[in-house]
Amino acid sequence: MRKPLIIITGASSGIGEATARQLSALGYPLLLLARRIERLQALALPHALCRQVDVTDAAALQAAVAEAEAQYGAADALVNNAGVMLLGRMHEQDPAEWQRMLDVNVRGVLNGIHAVLAGMMARRHGTIINVSSIAGRKTFPDHVAYCGSKFAVHAISENLREEVSSHNVRVITIAPGAVETELLGHTTSASIREGYEAWKRTMGPVLRAEDVADAIRYAYEAPQNVCIREIVLAATHQP
Ligand code: NDP
Repeated sequence: MRKPLIIITGASSGIGEATARQLSALGYPLLLLARRIERLQALALPHALCRQVDVTDAAALQAAVAEAEAQYGAADALVNNAGVMLLGRMHEQDPAEWQRMLDVNVRGVLNGIHAVLAGMMARRHGTIINVSSIAGRKTFPDHVAYCGSKFAVHAISENLREEVSSHNVRVITIAPGAVETELLGHTTSASIREGYEAWKRTMGPVLRAEDVADAIRYAYEAPQNVCIREIVLAATHQP
């Protein structure tokens, strides 16, 4: 039987890319979204529709979902993974950076949910997987706005689950600790980036993107009557 469509936001690198590779290898058709379309296309995954979508653009997201559903059938899962981490000290950081983090990490997640939820509720089948962070459960230095955005993702997931559980829609939060990806590279303060790298070195190897993709796949592939509500995972040496 043909496997159902899975949508992955932020599939052009890191956790999203690893998740796309893993789910594709299992035979799922995919809708892959990010701004760097060339990186999505370079993955060259079979049965994968790649679209250049900024998750803050709700209309573009909605249109890409409609196009993929016309091609592959109704979406059974959304991996709401796109995110940015711009670490900074409150009194120094350019407010445009908070704006961008809240836009992508919070509004982008809500846009993704909105694009698929009504269909899932009507079909009484579907899974929404929100990639939050350990920084959505506890705080870290220089993380004020990032933690704010990820605590919001946790709250959105919890409250959404209460709203849709009776419609047989699962809501799952994935909360990784430090993962080796491009994420830190966007932080503009060199001293904060260097401090974070030094903190990572004290732990030895941190998680690989594939470790988080494993958790996403495991949670999704549980039977539909089982909702793994949250997975928190981190390198063993992360305090
Ligand atoms: P990467 O920087 O490697 O990946 C981020 C992805 O998000 C990219 O594909 C990027 O694509 C996409 N993205 C960013 N902004 C937008 C946007 N406006 N619209 C669409 N896509 C966007 O980092 P990770 O893989 O580490 O991050 C994935 C998720 O995991 C994030 O939500 C992050 O907060 C979370 N996380 C990461 C941790 C880590 O230590 N790495 C720890 C805990 C959570 P493009 O630039 O092409 O648009």
